[in-house]
Amino acid sequence: MSNQPSKPDQQARLHAEAEERLAISPAPPSPSMEELLHELRVHQIELEMQNEELRRTRADLEVSHNRYVNLYEFAPVGYLTLTPEDEIIEVNSVAARLLGVERSHLLNGHFTNWVTPEYCDRWYMLLKNMQRQGRQTNLELMLKRGDSHFPARLDGLSIMSDDQTPMLRITLTDIAESKHAEEELRIAAVAFEAQEGIMITNADKVILRVNRAFTEITGYSSEELVGQTPQLFKSGRHNAAFYAEMWESINSMGSWHGEIWDQRKNGEVYPKWVTITAVKDKDGAITHYVGLHTDISERKATEEEINQLAYYDPLTALPNRRLLLDRLQQALSASARSEKYGALLFIDLDNFKALNDNLGHDMGDILLQQAAQRLLACVREGDTVSRQGGDEFVIMLEELSEYSDEAAAKAKTIGEKILFSLNQTYQLTCHEYQNTPSIGVTLFVNHQHSVGALLKRADIAMYEAKAAGRNTLRFFDQDMQRAVTTRAALEADLRAALSNNQFELYFQRQARHDGTVIGAEVLLRWNHPERGFVSPAEFIPLAEDVGLIIPIGLWVLEATRTQLKHWEDYPQTRHLQLAINVSARQFHQSEFTDHVCAMLKKTAYKAVRLKLEFTESLVFEDIEDTIAKMQRLKAMGVSFSMDDFGTGYSSLTYLTQLPFDQLKIDKSFVRNIGDKPADAAIVQTIIGMANNLGMEIIAEGVETEEQRAFLELHGCHTFQGNLIGRPMPVAEFECSLGI
Ligand code: C2E
Ligand code: CA
Ligand code: CA
Repeated sequence: MSNQPSKPDQQARLHAEAEERLAISPAPPSPSMEELLHELRVHQIELEMQNEELRRTRADLEVSHNRYVNLYEFAPVGYLTLTPEDEIIEVNSVAARLLGVERSHLLNGHFTNWVTPEYCDRWYMLLKNMQRQGRQTNLELMLKRGDSHFPARLDGLSIMSDDQTPMLRITLTDIAESKHAEEELRIAAVAFEAQEGIMITNADKVILRVNRAFTEITGYSSEELVGQTPQLFKSGRHNAAFYAEMWESINSMGSWHGEIWDQRKNGEVYPKWVTITAVKDKDGAITHYVGLHTDISERKATEEEINQLAYYDPLTALPNRRLLLDRLQQALSASARSEKYGALLFIDLDNFKALNDNLGHDMGDILLQQAAQRLLACVREGDTVSRQGGDEFVIMLEELSEYSDEAAAKAKTIGEKILFSLNQTYQLTCHEYQNTPSIGVTLFVNHQHSVGALLKRADIAMYEAKAAGRNTLRFFDQDMQRAVTTRAALEADLRAALSNNQFELYFQRQARHDGTVIGAEVLLRWNHPERGFVSPAEFIPLAEDVGLIIPIGLWVLEATRTQLKHWEDYPQTRHLQLAINVSARQFHQSEFTDHVCAMLKKTAYKAVRLKLEFTESLVFEDIEDTIAKMQRLKAMGVSFSMDDFGTGYSSLTYLTQLPFDQLKIDKSFVRNIGDKPADAAIVQTIIGMANNLGMEIIAEGVETEEQRAFLELHGCHTFQGNLIGRPMPVAEFECSLGI
């Protein structure tokens, strides 16, 4: 590496010089031998001293060379020496390791081979710069390492070699890690300015730093916060135990998260979701706490709103059915523990539909709101008043008593209070309005019955209250349950009856005083394979309730049409008029008149052969609809009979407006002729009325000759009843007429 001459060469030269000096010097007065020897010794000593110095210098040189080699070799960075033409002439082991190859692979190769293509330009530029300016420079670039690459930093210094050729000294550092750290820092900085509030404290909980979101949430500026402790935010909503538990969790588990109610600078108390994490040093000692704070006051408000929608009725703000079911379930568990009875009150407003129809839905809504307020006023704070929908409310009373009779008495008292309260006049804007409720009550204790079963019981009892004339209260009992079960079974059978062809028409003669049969009443029979003949008195009201009356009524119309058509062919029957019973629900449905018209048109038979029997309740349920429909049918030739006359509360005024052809004296009055003078008098009055109004009169349920005679005497000349003929199946009926 150096051009230092070797040791033997040097010695030879020194000897030569010494000899030269001896040889060339002018001949002095010849010195004595002694002098000569002395001089020689001095020379020798000098020579040895010089020699020693040389040896020292050489050793120093060697040490420094070794140090250089060591430094070069074992420096923590890669070293390379390049020619200005990019040829590698020296390289240390670190550089070789960084580039992932043996040193021999590198030597005499071009460094460019290790630069990734996209950085080559920059590398050339650096090379050029260094040649021109001969200065120190650096560059970050990507270098190859096997099949992959890594980010590196090059620091270059252009130097002159001993023989004055320019060279490049390069240090090479892998900066993957520092790059990564830099990136992490950048991410951390961005994250710190996130939407979430961040607060960093030291181990003593003194605030060191907060981000902008945090200042926005709390209302304090960063300057106001740094140096303070989080005590500043305390709202007083949590007790010391809460905070103690929180810090216990942070210190033992390293973190805690949960909801905290804090106070903003402006005094507002608000909920936030907080995550606190302890930062520890490598020895596990806590150095900092980092708190993430999210303001959840808005989310809470939305939650509250959703909750309100899901569990409360928007009109009255009362708990809805779902919440009631929830609470009832809880009440059952509570009653199992306390062994105390509670009660469910099912409240249905009577004739609510009529209010909606007459005054409009807005008035209906106001009434419901007022009723809700009254119900709330009737119960204790812990009781639940809920709205099930429509005009139905359910009240749950809890912890009434451990004795059922006492609980029942208490429930009854509250029920009666409700009856009284809901009977008070309502002020619906400018309308005064009277309304009544029907209330069904059932007791509950423990988990004897399911929530659903209990509601059903209260509902059944409520229907019982309705059936008992409304504006009253009924307790559920087992008989009711049985009736409901029976009814449910009957309903299921009734639904199948039409498709199973179980219906049949019976005919009951209507005759004049001389015995001439002028027509018949069509009476429906249900021939059930197991039940036998089921009375229409039993299944018609049910069919009305469940809507089956519509298809059944159509079937009766159609079967009657077929019968009339068939009887056209016989002189004994072609003049007969058939009276069909029509139910209120059937008549008031919008298609009723269309159905009858279609039936009349289908066979083009004379409408005078058809009579419809209406009851008073049907007529008065919707008087305008009745008048319109009757007039339309009347125009086609259909006639009408007022059935069961005298049993309802018929209004004479209306009677004159309606195009009835006939009044039918109810069989209950006929039955009492001869027994009850009052009923006999009623019969007389009805006959007089019919005569005055110019209507025909017929008496039903005539069973005895005595009854017939009485009726005839007082001006009723047409009769129907077992005396004249029982209701008969068609074959028997035809036979009796001689067909
Ligand atoms: P309703 O219209 O009053 O029919 C007269 C009822 O009195 C019939 O009962 C009949 O069998 C019965 N009856 C006839 N003569 C006598 C008698 O001399 N003494 C006594 N005690 N009763 C007599 P039914 O057939 O059981 O019908 C009961 C009710 O069912 C009918 O009462 C009617 O309201 C209804 N109904 C019958 N068929 C139909 C129908 O096709 N449609 C509709 N909507 N209702 C019908
Ligand atoms: Ca009838
Ligand atoms: Ca009748």
